[in-house]
This record gives sequence, C-alpha cells and structure tokens, in this order.
Amino acid sequence: MRNAKFVVGLILLLGLPLFSQTSANLEALKKEAIQQVGARQVFTQQMVDQIFSYAELGFQEFETSRYVTDILAKNGFKVEQGVAGIPTAWTATYGSGKPVIAFITDIDCIPRASQKPGVAYHDPIIEGAPGHGEGHNSGMAVNVTAVLVLRELMEKNKIAGTLKVMPGVAEELLGTKAFYVRAGLFKDVDIVLGTHVDDSLGTQYGHSFAPQGLVSVQYLFHGRAAHAAGAPWDGRSALDAVELMDTAWNFRREHLRLQQRSHYVIVNGGDQPNVVPSEAAVWYYFRELDYPHIKTLYDLGNTMAEAATMMTGTTVTRRVVGSAWPPHFNKVVAEIQQKNIERVGMPEWSDADQTLAKALQKEIGAPVDGLKSKVDSLREPRPDTEPGGSDDVGDISWVVPMVYMRYPANIPHTPGHSWVDAVAMATPIAHKGSTAGAKVQATTALDFLLSPDLVKQAWDYYNNVQTKEMKYTPLIGSEDKPAIEFNKEKMAKFLPEMKKYYYDPTKYKSYLEQLGIQYPTVKK
Ligand SMILES: [Zn+2]
Repeated sequence: MRNAKFVVGLILLLGLPLFSQTSANLEALKKEAIQQVGARQVFTQQMVDQIFSYAELGFQEFETSRYVTDILAKNGFKVEQGVAGIPTAWTATYGSGKPVIAFITDIDCIPRASQKPGVAYHDPIIEGAPGHGEGHNSGMAVNVTAVLVLRELMEKNKIAGTLKVMPGVAEELLGTKAFYVRAGLFKDVDIVLGTHVDDSLGTQYGHSFAPQGLVSVQYLFHGRAAHAAGAPWDGRSALDAVELMDTAWNFRREHLRLQQRSHYVIVNGGDQPNVVPSEAAVWYYFRELDYPHIKTLYDLGNTMAEAATMMTGTTVTRRVVGSAWPPHFNKVVAEIQQKNIERVGMPEWSDADQTLAKALQKEIGAPVDGLKSKVDSLREPRPDTEPGGSDDVGDISWVVPMVYMRYPANIPHTPGHSWVDAVAMATPIAHKGSTAGAKVQATTALDFLLSPDLVKQAWDYYNNVQTKEMKYTPLIGSEDKPAIEFNKEKMAKFLPEMKKYYYDPTKYKSYLEQLGIQYPTVKK
C-alpha cells in the first residue's frame, strides 16, 4: 500500500508516462464503478422485473426493445433500429474512437413458460403463455447498468473509446447472430463482452461451453393436390416426401458419428385425409462439434430431401431458420474477466432466497443444496467436448475476441427452457445476481478501455491461436433471410391478456409486490 502511494506520488511529481498513471487510475475507476453499480440496484431491479413482465418470444421482442432503447437514448446513446433486417434488433452506441467495446445479451423468452416469480411450484401467471423460462429478462439489466456507469466515468475522466450495446434477438431459435455478422455489426468492434444468465458467477475460454454448432432448417415439399379417393393417381403427396426423408434419416442415423445430434418435427403434415397434401414441411436441427462436421451433416440432409422428391414426384425448397458456430472464447479477455469475477464475488443471499431455492429444488426432485456461495474458477477448454445445446453467439466469437460471462441470477439444478427456470427470475435472486454481473462487466470494460496493449493481446490470441487453423465460414447463405415472421401468431394470441400484467414501477416497488406474491411462496 505504502509503495503504491509512493509510486503515484512520484508519477505526479515527475509527470511520468501515461501508462503508469492509468494503472493507478484503473484501480480507482474500478472501485468507483463497483460502487456506482451498487448505487443503481433499484434501477437494475426494475429492468429485470419490467422485461420479465413483457415475456416476448423470439423476433417479437417489440416492447422489450422499445423499453431498453428508450433508456439508452435518454442517456446519450445513439440508437439505430431494425439492424440486419430484423425489426426488433438494434445497436446503441456512446463515445468515440478506440477501443470499441460491445455488450450483447439475449432478450427473448420461452413458449409456455409463464410462471409467477417467487413461487416454488408450477403456477402460471397466464396458462400456456410465453414466459422467461430461461432468464433472458435479466441480461439487459446487467449490460445497461454497466454501460450507464461506464458512460459517466468516461465522461468525467475523459476516457476515449466507444460502447456499443445490442440485443440477442431470437436466441432460442438461434436466429440472428450469423445475420448480425453478415451485416457487419462487428466490423469496428475490438472486444465483445457477452453475458448469459446462470446459477454461478464465472467465465471460460476456448471451446468449452455449449459446445455444439448447428443448422436449423425447414424442408418445404411441394406436390399436387387431388381427391384422395376419387383420383389419387393425379396427386403427388408432399407428406409422402416428408415421411420418406424422415425414415431415410432414421436409418442413416446408425451410421453417423456419435457426436452428432439431429432431431426434427413435422410442422405441416397436410390439411385432411381426403386431400392429397400438396404442401408439407419438416424442420430439422443438424448438430455437430465443428464447422466441417456440421456442413457434412447438413449436406447429407439436403441429399435426403432431394432423394425424397425423386421418390415422390415432388419438389423441395429450404428455409434456414437459424445457425450457430460452436463458440470459442478469448483466453486473454477471460483471464482478465476472471480477476474481476473474484473481486466482485457472489451476492449475499438471504434466508428467503435460500428457502425459495431449496423448495424449488425439492419440488423438481433435484439435489437440495440451495444457492451457490462461491464464484467458479476459470473454465478451461475441455479436451472431450460433450454434445449438448447450442448458442448462436458462437458466430460472433469467431469474428472478434469475445467472452461470455455467466452471472448468478438463477437457481442451481433447474432443467432450462421451462417454467422452473422462471421462478427466480423476478425475485431478489435475479436482482442481486444481475447487480453482481453488472459490476464484472463494468470493471472488465475498464481494463480494456484503459489498456490498448490488452486489446492487442486479445487480438494476438484470436489471430495466432484461435483462428490459426479454423477460419469462419458462415452456415447461412448470402440469400438466406432471418425468420422474422416466426412466433408472430403465438405472441398475438396471448398479448392482450399479457398486457394486463406488465410491470408498473410507478405504482409498485417490485413485480412481486404488483402480483401480490408473498416472497417466498413454498409448499408447507
Ligand atoms: Zn439463453
């Protein structure tokens, strides 16, 4: 401590080079950032609750995007709406010059996951309605809180650099990030600080998280309608083609690599049995561990679809709905971020938080060990990647140095993508976890804003390690378009009822209060 003070004193005295000053500055700025994020707890909580109450499905995040961009615009960010040809996508930028630091996090929710927050058993707000059954309602609270604090610090201390905020639209469909990349949204970006809800505070580098990539594609078969009894020989059944393709795929499955995962649903099987179906469609996910294998699997699917048309006298067109590269996160940025994670630490959970967590774990038959008390150590690349889900941030991670911080806003052992994962998401667990996440985002951004050398090191890793052998080739074609019409009807069906439950922070301190929920509500 004495030494540090002495060095600072000496620097001031001698007017030594800037970099020595910035290390002293950096420490003071980080302290202030952490304190400022803490001072905005109510703001963070309101954002978490507000977006939870909007609960919008992928490509239909209109209220959410309006709400978030209003806040950013009011705080001096320049907002561009409808980027990459996606109505609910946008960018918001502040500042000027290098480095450009981008913040991204998802905003869409899960079908049928409506759930009263703070209640440790299934109790929907609206039966069958969409809900934040993954916790994407909290990410913008993390990032926006962080950038508002950074903006103030940059202004006050004349720090050069640009902050760029953007939403992960339709992540549940893996529907947008490859299109963001194609539209050039990351061309000027130096570092991407992505973040995703979790039950722990941590980060990782390399190929170590959600390790599979995929192509999500619909095959639309076109045949010829005819009376199914009167003149069946005049008809050509599109449904026959769907069934033959699926049958062929299931036979071939035996002879594919064990690492692959593929699954399908028939989204259109025709109208009624006495009409030979002239239109039918099947939706496939082709998942594998790296680009060459994903491409091989996808090509095989296309071959099978073509073969099915030959057998049935039909034709086929394709609609790519989504795609994702397996992510690779930047080691340099992750190591810096890990130090900030350890500095910030886990939130202090109350007895009520633990009671809710344990009651929910008991309810779903999971280990009853409550909320985590320690941050995770830095996750290293796993040599044997285990197949699992996918996340379309992967595409971004292959065009710019990126990390993906996990912040502790949810309860351990939940199954994901269901009402269970919505229980904590508008309670003090999500509020405190988001505040912790915002502190890590703000301090990590300061590290890179104040050190051009660190930015360079991150790019060295990207150029000389990550992309030495594997180069990014998009899984979408130049003609593919984002599936922006998806979820329109599903959302419209519930919207009038859902509007009655939008959070009103002018009347209620919290969404729990507005809904009249005793926190926590658990089975006796
Ligand atoms: Zn997600």
